[in-house]
Amino acid sequence: KWEEIIQKLKVEYFLSNISFETWIRPLEVYDIVDDTLYLSINFKASIEHIQNKYLLPLKVCIAEVTGVEYDIKFIPKDVSQSEMETYRPSGETEYKEEIKQKHKKVNHIAEQANLNSKYTFDTFVVGGNNNFAHAASLAVAESPGEVYNPLFLYGGVGLGKTHLMHSVAHYILDKDPSKKVLYVTSETFTNELIDAIRIGKTGNELAMTSFRDKYRNNDVLLIDDVQFIIGKESTQEEFFHTFNHLHNAGKQIIISSDKPPKDMETLEARLRTRFEWGLIADISAPDYETRMAILYKKIEIDQLERYNIPNDVIQYIATNIKSNIRELEGSLNKLIALYRINNNQKEIDITLASEALKDLISPDENRKVTPELIIDVVSEHFNIPISDLKSSKRNAEIANARQIAMYLCRKMTDTPLKTIGLLLGGRDHSTVNHGVDKVSNDVENNETLSNTISIIKKKINPV
Ligand code: ADP
Ligand code: MG
Repeated sequence: KWEEIIQKLKVEYFLSNISFETWIRPLEVYDIVDDTLYLSINFKASIEHIQNKYLLPLKVCIAEVTGVEYDIKFIPKDVSQSEMETYRPSGETEYKEEIKQKHKKVNHIAEQANLNSKYTFDTFVVGGNNNFAHAASLAVAESPGEVYNPLFLYGGVGLGKTHLMHSVAHYILDKDPSKKVLYVTSETFTNELIDAIRIGKTGNELAMTSFRDKYRNNDVLLIDDVQFIIGKESTQEEFFHTFNHLHNAGKQIIISSDKPPKDMETLEARLRTRFEWGLIADISAPDYETRMAILYKKIEIDQLERYNIPNDVIQYIATNIKSNIRELEGSLNKLIALYRINNNQKEIDITLASEALKDLISPDENRKVTPELIIDVVSEHFNIPISDLKSSKRNAEIANARQIAMYLCRKMTDTPLKTIGLLLGGRDHSTVNHGVDKVSNDVENNETLSNTISIIKKKINPV
């Protein structure tokens, strides 16, 4: 593609042969990290010139050929090999390799239970905000079905509920791999139920049986974010029976929610009572010490020591990000990303950190529904990076999430199609229009999709 891009540049911007051969031909694609394209260049001295004169034309041609609006950074080629190494997102490949190896080792039993191998008790930092929930979880992990049943964990977004639930499941499976452990989000539970009912209606009686088998035939069932199933009668009904079945058989149930049962208004009384049978434990926002400890843990786990992030920078992050651990981790990632985007030339200091935190510090009580927020939530919901949503990738999963983002931007904000297109990687308004129409039509006939969309809407706007 590179050749196509530079030829286009040459023709469309009327470059003379000599300019072309001197400035453009020697450029080489060095790396692509997220949305940044690194081009290597032969002399440091020519960077300024190329930037002034050709940056914009390059951007345009690249966007036209690839469909992606990359940020472009130039890297001088006449640096020594060792300097060169530091331009490279250092150690990244080895690191990725290591992660891959780790993943391979992950018990495939754990995979079958839908567990993230990173979420274990070992990686969970205990502080005043979560020590009760942590202790309760560990107790349940050690003696499933025997102590607190159900265990009901509740707390705000990004405070570690999912992490704790996975930790329990890993612990139980590590100790006894023959245990049947199933972790699902309430969305999966609901969508599978919808499917079973739908298929059942076509005369296939096995559909419902196999759904029930799947959920009842467990030693430990973990249902995450149960707040999303309340309000749906059929789901509550089925969940009620699942609950009773497991509970009567002495099997462990672990539930998480954003609120305690008493505050879940549309929860049926009989389910509420059952949720209160066992132990209810809350997780609140971490205090300063815990936030520091979590940052240090993250540095250790992700092997970020090599960046020598100064202490005052870590303190700065811990001071400013208070209410969401995912954002705490996110700001560390953002800091490292900024450092690398600047060719490792800017120091990691408070200034860089404040840049990294810019978007995060805004108080979220008056969180406005913006297209950016929607794209963020969709990305997180489907576990697809924002850069993929913006990219030209067309695989079904990404394309589907992208169209849902378009649809929600259109329905929840009054952003023009054109702007939505720009935010999603420079797509034109007809593409966006098509996406919106497609989802609008599908929602009518596809109950699973409509369930998924209503959950994402609740995530965007929880009131
Ligand atoms: P929730 O399910 O409550 O929204 P998660 O469990 O997904 O939150 O946590 C968000 C992120 O924060 C995850 O990456 C998780 O590993 C991390 N995290 C949360 N609590 C802790 C903790 N106590 N120690 C270490 N990491 C944590
Ligand atoms: Mg969660």
